[in-house]
Amino acid sequence: SYDELKKCTNNFSESNEIGSGGYGKVYRGMLSSGIVVAIKRAQQGSMQGGLEFRTEIELLSRVHHKNLVGLVGFCFEQGEQMLVYEFMPNGTIRESLSRRSGIHLDWKRRLRVALGSARGLTYLHELANPPIIHRDVKTSNILLDESLTAKVADFGLSKLVTNGEKGHVSTQVKGTLGYLDPEYYMTQQLTDKSDVYSFGVVMLELVTAKQPIEKNKYIVREVRLVMNKKDEHYGLKEIMDPMIRNTDSLIGFGRFMDLAMRCVEESAVDRPTMSDVVKEIETILQSDE
Ligand code: ADP
Repeated sequence: SYDELKKCTNNFSESNEIGSGGYGKVYRGMLSSGIVVAIKRAQQGSMQGGLEFRTEIELLSRVHHKNLVGLVGFCFEQGEQMLVYEFMPNGTIRESLSRRSGIHLDWKRRLRVALGSARGLTYLHELANPPIIHRDVKTSNILLDESLTAKVADFGLSKLVTNGEKGHVSTQVKGTLGYLDPEYYMTQQLTDKSDVYSFGVVMLELVTAKQPIEKNKYIVREVRLVMNKKDEHYGLKEIMDPMIRNTDSLIGFGRFMDLAMRCVEESAVDRPTMSDVVKEIETILQSDE
């Protein structure tokens, strides 16, 4: 209940705040059972209300996979909207890549992170009635647990978030700039291939550590340019994350790049499925054994 959650976060005090995002603040708390949780407290009016919302949340709390951040519960009381998640002590992979957390991801760990999150997304896409399209795949939505296993957060939530205007549910394209599938943006036809595009951008971030849009430069376009000039001396090393640039065993680097570029194809039919992506990264990792 609301009162319980209030107690477990010390009244939502600043000292328990761990971040803020698209629709409110995130707090760390401990349930009376001893489980450490992250509580997302929505800003007033940022989520749609009513029965439909509850049904959707109940559905999401029944979705379980090793590579998805588990929704432990929710609270919808006294004008409050809160979602309770299992706590991820090692932050987001965006934080690791921008060195805002103490976690260094070496190349092999990056491959495992990609594989784990791809598995989580495949699970969502392959769920029976209804499959779930994440719609907001990005590096700040992929978190690391205590053993650095990647877990995707916020699945299925983007359709519950309104665009700010009270009571108005927008049918506009949802997602984050830089990750948005250009075809979905143009046609507004949402398919699982939109997640594949966003995931391709995530893969490029794992290689470059750059944000998808930096100083008016768009990562997909940048890498495409470099890839086309591949035979020339000027190459991928230029845009590679300095943290992995000098590693001697960049296993499967070429294949990983090719896969990423297929994921960000302009046209959805040219992109692989998430399940194809999983198989390819598994093959890359096995080639090291
Ligand atoms: P965004 O809207 O950018 O996705 P969120 O609201 O999902 O942001 O989360 C904001 C921040 O809170 C994240 O960047 C992360 O640092 C932290 N956070 C979110 N969920 C969890 C969790 N389950 N465990 C630990 N930290 C979390």
